[in-house]
Amino acid sequence: MDMNRDCGCESARQRMDILIDRELTELECSDVSAHCASCESCQAEIVVMEKLTDRFRAACAEPAPENLRISILNSIKSQDGILDS
Ligand SMILES: [Zn+2]
Repeated sequence: MDMNRDCGCESARQRMDILIDRELTELECSDVSAHCASCESCQAEIVVMEKLTDRFRAACAEPAPENLRISILNSIKSQDGILDS
């Protein structure tokens, strides 16, 4: 667990807002992605944002790390399952 080394929830969420509104640099995108990969609550947050707007993906020139993409896809699937029932 390297939780102490990432940028932190507050920083990640602040940049998520910027990320939705305007393009972040690739480095900032990867910081947010790296944090979300290790933080379930921010991952859930970004999934909600991503469902509301596809601009998260568009803002990031590089695709998210495979592990994060799988986690996000699984989150969407499980959320949809909850919504359906
Ligand atoms: Zn977080």
